[in-house]
Amino acid sequence: MSDLQTYDAVVVGGGPAGATAANDLASRGHRVLLLDRAGRIKPCGGAIPPRLLRDFAIPEALIVARCRSARIVAPSSREVDMPIDGGFVAMVDREIFDEWLRERAAGSGTERQTGTFVRIDRESDGVAVVVYRVLDAGGEESLVRVRARAVIGADGATSAVARQAIPQSRKTKNVFAYHEILEAPKLDQGAYDGTRCDIYYQEQVSPDFYGWIFPHGDTLSIGVGSARKGFSLRNATRDLRARAGLAGCATLRREGAPIPLRPLKKWDNGRDVVLAGDAAGIVAPASGEGIFYAMTGGRLAADAVAQFLATGKVAALATARTRFMKAHGLVFWVLGIMQYFWYCNDRRRERFVKMCADPDVQRLTWEAYMNKELVRKSPLAHARIFLNDLGHLLGLART
Ligand SMILES: Cc1cc2nc3c(=O)[nH]c(=O)nc-3n(C[C@H](O)[C@H](O)[C@H](O)COP(=O)(O)OP(=O)(O)OC[C@H]3O[C@@H](n4cnc5c(N)ncnc54)[C@H](O)[C@@H]3O)c2cc1C
Repeated sequence: MSDLQTYDAVVVGGGPAGATAANDLASRGHRVLLLDRAGRIKPCGGAIPPRLLRDFAIPEALIVARCRSARIVAPSSREVDMPIDGGFVAMVDREIFDEWLRERAAGSGTERQTGTFVRIDRESDGVAVVVYRVLDAGGEESLVRVRARAVIGADGATSAVARQAIPQSRKTKNVFAYHEILEAPKLDQGAYDGTRCDIYYQEQVSPDFYGWIFPHGDTLSIGVGSARKGFSLRNATRDLRARAGLAGCATLRREGAPIPLRPLKKWDNGRDVVLAGDAAGIVAPASGEGIFYAMTGGRLAADAVAQFLATGKVAALATARTRFMKAHGLVFWVLGIMQYFWYCNDRRRERFVKMCADPDVQRLTWEAYMNKELVRKSPLAHARIFLNDLGHLLGLART
């Protein structure tokens, strides 16, 4: 008999994916350890859809701003405003939001542990032993070992769990995103509006993704993403600040992180490990939206682990991926094509922004964003957009 502590599940990573998985499993009565590194605030624009608030019972108090429209800016500087009819994009502050999720998981019975995942060993009976590093009050490091009947790897885009347990996972495609958190102008100043998200589709801002300004109440996030090596995200952000009249605002933080834009082909090791969130590569292409998908992935990983613990059948672990791809795979595929086609040069970006001026495109875009489902109503609007889109793709439509 091992004298190590034994958990039903060790969840590595306390971001939206891990905290959701831990909360769901602990709520079902499982013994769960949530392991999270100390002290880093996740670099993130913090934009979340209303469906996330509903699905995961997020209190209104965590919303720091509500965006009622988006302004998209074309290479020519043409601006198209996309008002949201009766809805909003919610903004959260990740420092507060993530901690709230972790505390909710603790309230459901999860044991929280601050430490850094090192590796998974195996005991002689084959059970996983999660090894992690902790610091004591005097700054001395030591290694801790716990037994885990299942492990959920929710440790983000550069997941150490994925690297060790699912080696194929190394082949991922990332965009690197960098942003600065600024003190927001006191009154809506110049082009800045605290109830609007601004999105820049311009080569000089990003050669293959986009730049953004997201209001967060007293602060704002301004940044850019790109997968292009050698492209200076810092310089692009500096220039965007100057153009948006935000150069003089106090800078509170500068930070960046990779965003994976392709779901991994395998999320489990066929034995006792399953991935969730960025670790599984599930951020929507074209938009870079990952919080909703991370929490959904965390929930599906928890379901898969609960089924595995109940039945002992390892095949249950694979259901996390199959269920996710069934619900969101088509949207990811469409967004992937959109990014590939529309974000590749300024001529196409200009057409893309022009298309977004169409009221039907706006309505369907917002409905799809807010509810995370492809809108099946309005077949006539779909047909018209499809033909319009095809015209643009074939270069037949006038710009
Ligand atoms: C600049 C930027 C802007 C973005 N803006 C948006 C946005 O506006 N809206 C949106 O929906 N998405 C956005 N995203 C994407 C979104 O932030 C991620 O998809 C989301 O955070 C993924 O959640 P996660 O729980 O999978 O991973 P993470 O949030 O990355 O959490 C991983 C956790 O694991 C911990 N961890 C990592 N390694 C270890 C280890 N070895 N041991 C222990 N713990 C570890 C980390 O400390 C962290 O707490 C943005 C991303 C970036 C980089």
